[in-house]
Amino acid sequence: MSVTGLCELCTTNEVVDGCDRCGRLVCETHYDEQTGLCTDCLKEAGGRPAGEEDVQPDGPDGVDTYQF
Ligand SMILES: [Zn+2]
Ligand SMILES: [Zn+2]
Repeated sequence: MSVTGLCELCTTNEVVDGCDRCGRLVCETHYDEQTGLCTDCLKEAGGRPAGEEDVQPDGPDGVDTYQF
């Protein structure tokens, strides 16, 4: 099951997997392994585990504490 081609979001990097939600083929950068979603859907879906409400004011960047 190898997918080839370019990421549909950045059209620059090579595809690693398809989004479980929209089906787009995305690169490593735009694919979230934990959810199986592309970063686009991740944003729409909230990008956070259940239990947390979307109450933060609009900031320029996500203030994720899950960064490596
Ligand atoms: Zn990409
Ligand atoms: Zn998607």
